[in-house]
Amino acid sequence: MKYSFKDPTVSIAIVGAGGFIGSHLLDALIERTSWRILAVDLDFYRLQHRLHHPRIEFLCDDLKKESVVSRIASYPIVINLAAICVPSRYMREAKEVIESNYNHPVALALACAKSGAWLIHFSTSEVYGKTSIEPCLLEEDSSPMILGSVRASRWSYACAKQLTERYIASLQGLSWTVLRPFNFVGPRMDFIPGIDGEGIPRVLANFCAALLKNEPLFLVDQGVSRRSFTSIHDAIHFIFAVLVHQEESLGQAFNIGNPENELSIAELADRMRQIYASLKQVSIDQVSPVQLISSKEYYGEGYEDSLRRIPSIEKAKRLLGYVPNEALDVTLQETLSWFIEHYRLAL
Ligand code: NAD
Ligand code: UDP
Repeated sequence: MKYSFKDPTVSIAIVGAGGFIGSHLLDALIERTSWRILAVDLDFYRLQHRLHHPRIEFLCDDLKKESVVSRIASYPIVINLAAICVPSRYMREAKEVIESNYNHPVALALACAKSGAWLIHFSTSEVYGKTSIEPCLLEEDSSPMILGSVRASRWSYACAKQLTERYIASLQGLSWTVLRPFNFVGPRMDFIPGIDGEGIPRVLANFCAALLKNEPLFLVDQGVSRRSFTSIHDAIHFIFAVLVHQEESLGQAFNIGNPENELSIAELADRMRQIYASLKQVSIDQVSPVQLISSKEYYGEGYEDSLRRIPSIEKAKRLLGYVPNEALDVTLQETLSWFIEHYRLAL
């Protein structure tokens, strides 16, 4: 089936629509399509500007309810973004993390198999697991996926996501596509602890928060681990590429990432300090310093890390004609500027 963005009879359900990725996706669907949208989440604080839009129906409810699942599955296209997905929670709340990333999406997958909906499920680059520091492109259909011990509950999330992928792929009659994000960054990501959330946000949000509060930027285990950061705008283009290429996307898992944007966390902290100094027009020694901390002290018992994650994007190029194009510095500056402006009155 070929979906046209101009066709007003097409409808889509977005689960986790109020989150970082979901809120950008909703904006893009409103701006670039004529589709009707069911937006499902526990909270819509990021979507205040869309609350009265005539093409969006908001359902403030929980994916763990059967009635919510069957309502969602009655849509022909379902994108599931709902999850507990902040690493600091994987150690303290492993059971809830597993329920959120396995039990709930599996119930939705079963309902979609029954209704015939196309399920586009958000997994994670963490399914590749405990990667080493050696440079290695992670390929969707050939790279190994190795997790740590069951006592290291950091892997609760990765394991639940991986099992969900396998369950989805095993379901007879389900039309599915799995997406594996590589560290998306941009405006609206995560929160600032004590202001609009609690715990430890993902690294870029945490560095923005530290710079704004004039507190140290913590480098966990010396900041040697490396990530490939992906602009939220490139990520949204990717989702649109999937939506127009249903035939090529069915039964496939795709990385969504930018291999050009790879750097260590220590390098990320340096860049962020420099960008902040230039935005604020102050000298670098007036900007929050970095501070080393062990992972045990920062995250507690049970934390382990993926040391390096570089996405192969060959499959996305080949099947969807997709290539990311936002340069990292542009994205970092955009994100930090958004944090400065958004939290101007709160800090
Ligand atoms: P997010 O936390 O900003 O958004 C997730 C949303 O899901 C939240 O708004 C939350 O309220 C909602 N939600 C959680 N449980 C729910 C439930 N039971 N019922 C209804 N809504 C519920 O996260 P995000 O960054 O937008 O990530 C979205 C998806 O992408 C997740 O599945 C995540 O695992 C995956 N992912 C994201 C990244 C990234 O870089 N952002 C990386 C890897 C994987
Ligand atoms: N990290 C860090 N300081 C922070 C937050 C995270 O050094 O304040 C490190 C973390 O240990 C990991 C990397 O940054 O090596 C990315 O962490 P994040 O929480 O963003 O997500 P992940 O990619 O691990 O899922």
